[in-house]
Amino acid sequence: MRYQLRDEQGATRSVAYLMLAAAPVVFLTGIVLPDTHPVPWVVAISLTIAFMAVGGLFAWKRPQSVPRVFWLLVPFVAVGTIAGLNLASHDASAGSQLFYLWPVLYAANFLSHRVTAVILALVSAGHASVAFEVRGPSAGLSDWVSVTVALSLTAIVVASLRNRNDRLREVLESQALADPLTGVSNRRSFDLELERAFASNEPLALMTIDIDHFKSVNDTWGHGVGDRAIQVVASCLRTAARRDTDVVARLGGDEFALLLQADRLNARRTADEVRAAVEAVDDLPCGTLGLSIGIALRPDHAATADELRIASDAALYEAKQGGRGRTAMAHPPTPRHAVSAAG
Ligand code: GH3
Ligand code: MG
Repeated sequence: MRYQLRDEQGATRSVAYLMLAAAPVVFLTGIVLPDTHPVPWVVAISLTIAFMAVGGLFAWKRPQSVPRVFWLLVPFVAVGTIAGLNLASHDASAGSQLFYLWPVLYAANFLSHRVTAVILALVSAGHASVAFEVRGPSAGLSDWVSVTVALSLTAIVVASLRNRNDRLREVLESQALADPLTGVSNRRSFDLELERAFASNEPLALMTIDIDHFKSVNDTWGHGVGDRAIQVVASCLRTAARRDTDVVARLGGDEFALLLQADRLNARRTADEVRAAVEAVDDLPCGTLGLSIGIALRPDHAATADELRIASDAALYEAKQGGRGRTAMAHPPTPRHAVSAAG
């Protein structure tokens, strides 16, 4: 059965707190408060307390060793237990119905809307079986309707709050990873993507791209035009990044990165494409923008993400030193023995 378990840590903690809190409550109501203590009763209550305490500690300390489906089944078990105990004790009091709040809140907060609806239906049926038997048809019906409506409204409120939280979290996550001016990845997100790309065995090409003489665009035309120029470059890079795995990022100021799963030939071709696309933009007041691009490849120039970044930066520096408006390829790393021979 497909189901959604949202916030697994929150769900496991809820189960742990419930069981750890239930153990002393059962001890109080089952052993301390009753006047008589028949042996089978004491044994059953003691086993229940031990199960709650051990289960609670397990859910708290080792939730990962519990099969995931358990966290779906928990509210069903809770509804069954509450209904069974209420039925056995002929208890239709408001206090006993309050226990249904836990499975309803748990489902509304951690499980899908469909599962929440099923839990509500079971709670309603469980309560009906006690309310009609204990209170009779008329009072039972009124009690049953009140409890069902109250718990349904509670589930709706919790589920809508949870939806709102989910949407807010999505917005915050995307804002934390995107550059606000261009919408491409920011440096933080790029660092994560680069690490992720290194986990694959594909050849990688990292281009570091910087706009030439960008300060003079700002100085002559103002920051507004400078911002437009930055957006134009980002948009050309986005067009060049065709694969899902390609990453465009603004590293800061007028500097960008383009990470591709590409070999030397394709990386060069993409760099030429980007440069041609930026040069073809003719609606900027500042005129044509020039780009300098440094390319570094894995495995040719680097074995780690840091080495790739450094090699690509060094190639960009060479492109700038070589007169700007050009692409420079990184050099293979100097072999260790050659360095020590030179030193
Ligand atoms: P070079 O050819 O050597 O790259 O020279 P440059 O003038 O482009 O120098 P540099 O790359 O260091 O210039 C970066 C400038 O980018 C400096 C800063 O004022 C400007 N800048 C940084 N962030 C923004 C921004 O968000 N908007 C605008 N309009 N300008 C920015
Ligand atoms: Mg620049």
